[in-house]
Amino acid sequence: MARYRGPVCRLCRREGAKLFLKGERCLTPKCAIDKRNFAPGAHGKSRRSRVQGYGLQLREKQKAKRVYGVLERQFRLYFKQAERQRAVTGAYLLQLLERRLDNAVYRLRLAPSRAAARLFVRHGHVQLNGKRVTIPSHIVQQGDVISVAERTRKKAFFQQILEAAEGRAVPDWIQPDPEDLATGKVTALPTGDDPQLKIREQLIVELYSR
Ligand code: SF4
Repeated sequence: MARYRGPVCRLCRREGAKLFLKGERCLTPKCAIDKRNFAPGAHGKSRRSRVQGYGLQLREKQKAKRVYGVLERQFRLYFKQAERQRAVTGAYLLQLLERRLDNAVYRLRLAPSRAAARLFVRHGHVQLNGKRVTIPSHIVQQGDVISVAERTRKKAFFQQILEAAEGRAVPDWIQPDPEDLATGKVTALPTGDDPQLKIREQLIVELYSR
């Protein structure tokens, strides 16, 4: 599946919020939102109009897409899937995005960012219930066990990832194995309610319902 390959800090600056796309750097003073919190481009500094209505809905959808590294076509498919459920559409949409394998790997602290987690999965470093899965968009189920392949565990880069991730919070729905940090279990289905990201899913539903 295609993905965005351009400069990512621009995306945060466009949304005027931290989207945490670069791992550790996002928590340092080097973060572009801390240094230049205005829209990218020649007129970004001078033109920050109040966004309302359609513009607000569009920005919220773009924000969600950018956080999870999903392009428009796939995002619409997720929305259609959410619409078919009996659950509340917006909440289910966020749950689907959270349940992507690359996101679960990131949440388990096995990669510094979602983009890194995506590559990690693609390159065959991740196993689901003991079997290698190389599809970052694979939707995890309650009870699934995610682990890092044996050959990867000894590699220096993975040890560095684990060390850097120490202290990073893990959401309630996924539990790292206390005796084996390279393994974790999906113990519940996520709510998609991340206080750090604050995605207002209702605006996305309104946008697609126009
Ligand atoms: Fe760049 Fe991360 Fe800051 Fe976004 S949050 S601007 S990706 S450093």
